[in-house]
Amino acid sequence: MRSTAHHADVVIIGAGIAGLSAAHLLTRAGLGVSVLEAASRVGGRLVTDDLDGFRLDHLGPLLCGSWPELAGAPGLGGPKLAGFAPGVLVHSEGRRHLTADLRSARGALKAVRSRTSAPHSSPPRTYGGGPRIAPRGGRSGVVTGAIDRARLSAALSRLAAVPAARILARPERTAADSPLVGGLPARTVDGVLRPLLSALLGDPALTTSSRYAELVLRDYARGGLCVPAGGSAALPDLLAAALPPGTVRTGVHVTAADITSVRTKEHGELGCRSLLLATGAGAAAELLPGLRLPAFHPVTVLHHTAPAPPPTGGSLVLDADRSGPVAHTAVMSEVDPSRAPAGRTLITSTVLGTPPPDLDRSVRGHLAALYGTPTHDWELLAAHHDPEAVPAMEAPHDPRRPVRVLAGLYVCGDHRDTSTVQGALQSGRRAARAILADLGLPAAHEGDARLAEAA
Ligand SMILES: Cc1cc2nc3c(=O)[nH]c(=O)nc-3n(C[C@H](O)[C@H](O)[C@H](O)COP(=O)(O)OP(=O)(O)OC[C@H]3O[C@@H](n4cnc5c(N)ncnc54)[C@H](O)[C@@H]3O)c2cc1C
Repeated sequence: MRSTAHHADVVIIGAGIAGLSAAHLLTRAGLGVSVLEAASRVGGRLVTDDLDGFRLDHLGPLLCGSWPELAGAPGLGGPKLAGFAPGVLVHSEGRRHLTADLRSARGALKAVRSRTSAPHSSPPRTYGGGPRIAPRGGRSGVVTGAIDRARLSAALSRLAAVPAARILARPERTAADSPLVGGLPARTVDGVLRPLLSALLGDPALTTSSRYAELVLRDYARGGLCVPAGGSAALPDLLAAALPPGTVRTGVHVTAADITSVRTKEHGELGCRSLLLATGAGAAAELLPGLRLPAFHPVTVLHHTAPAPPPTGGSLVLDADRSGPVAHTAVMSEVDPSRAPAGRTLITSTVLGTPPPDLDRSVRGHLAALYGTPTHDWELLAAHHDPEAVPAMEAPHDPRRPVRVLAGLYVCGDHRDTSTVQGALQSGRRAARAILADLGLPAAHEGDARLAEAA
């Protein structure tokens, strides 16, 4: 690299999925693009470690199958996704209850019908040959009965049909005060909706904007939950592999940024026509003082291996009682078998907020209650804590924060959109479109226009 020479048409700082998705659209438009990444690998927060054949994500496992960017972002080419089983397993008052498929009114009506026709005689459901979980028959109403579930499913089905623009025009409150929460019986809200929303938002106190809470519930109702097969790093790896060779340079740390140049620790000053900051919110605010720095929701992800898979049928397990640090957990080797060696079990659990000092001990104790099985012989494979995992989206939250600071200087990342993989990808696409418009170049291609509409 030549010092202070023109290095590329566009320099992008950061090879997370936001920066990589922008790079795609810009290279497709014929621009010379250089993505500078401080770390030794691409992906930013989407990291998957390989440990003895286990694929261990640093990331939480909740992506919505209906997110348009997941299926259609240029360069991703329809990644292989592994879906959770429909419905969630809710732990409440010492028991686990399998909800019906909350995503569709049809699933809920089926549950009501089977309850009406055979209220006490439905056979216990078994999963994977393990202990049996009785489906909730609505006898005690601890979590929510079949009629309540049908109401919740109907509310979610209605939400699934609402366009994003209508949700974004609604009055904005906290997620805890969302009209959806208010319109359902307290036992449904406390038993299912609150733990589900906390998990989807990474926000145990539900201070997130009610608009975004409804948007994410809408996305859940439309497509359920999924993970990239083999680990979340598959997404940035796909994006990076589809870029022209030499576009991404890892191990290059940018220390100062200007419209027409960046200073790097390793290669001095590099010139460009346009600069796109695609770092996390903290690094962006350091490089560009004046950028708003949001609060963050800390997240800790733990991976255990167990001698045998506890019976969940591949559902997400939630705790309505909040009786321990784990917000949600799943037998990931059942959701995505490629994440564990054959015959081995991988359990991935997420702690939201500040983790307890005796993390593994208290998580293990909580998991014993959630799965109804001893956990002393489970082995901790890895634990990752990120204090800046998820930028908070408190009201008023603008999910389309401007990506153009001024002509030649742009910013993208999940902190400019929604704090998700979908939001990061979308912000990268918006930034690329702004750069192309300022350079007088046509906005890429048909697929891009389709995604803009879908949003
Ligand atoms: C523990 C955890 C759990 C999560 N759970 C979920 C979930 O369940 N569902 C979901 O959708 N999302 C989840 N997220 C959020 C999701 O990971 C992010 O929204 C998304 O990955 C952000 O991508 P990005 O490209 O905006 O930023 P990043 O991935 O942060 O990428 C920014 C890149 O910029 C680089 N960089 C920074 N400074 C410099 C510099 N000075 N010079 C060069 N390079 C620099 C960084 O190294 C990094 O690679 C979670 C995140 C974490 C950490």
